[in-house]
Amino acid sequence: MFLNVNVHFIVVLHLLQNKFIPRDVLPTTYNLDVYDGAILYPKALDDRNFRGQMDICSSCHTLLQAEKLPMDAIANFQYYAYDELPDTVHFAFANTSLLT
Ligand SMILES: [Zn+2]
Repeated sequence: MFLNVNVHFIVVLHLLQNKFIPRDVLPTTYNLDVYDGAILYPKALDDRNFRGQMDICSSCHTLLQAEKLPMDAIANFQYYAYDELPDTVHFAFANTSLLT
């Protein structure tokens, strides 16, 4: 179940940072500073430039309220910087077939 919560009530966004992600591939699809450097799924954000509402699953919400990093948070080494790849790489992925 997903909740649509006001990000202002998630005071532990810093838990969703990952200092091991190289600066050059950090998300640019939303204002990272506004969200305290948290690695988030941009499509879950109602507003990408200002803190507002965010979709979040209820189990992740519960864990963040308890100030714990959810196991399946993309900040927990599940961020692949797909949106930050060069256009040529996007094109290659889009035109790759699993069939040979
Ligand atoms: Zn979740």
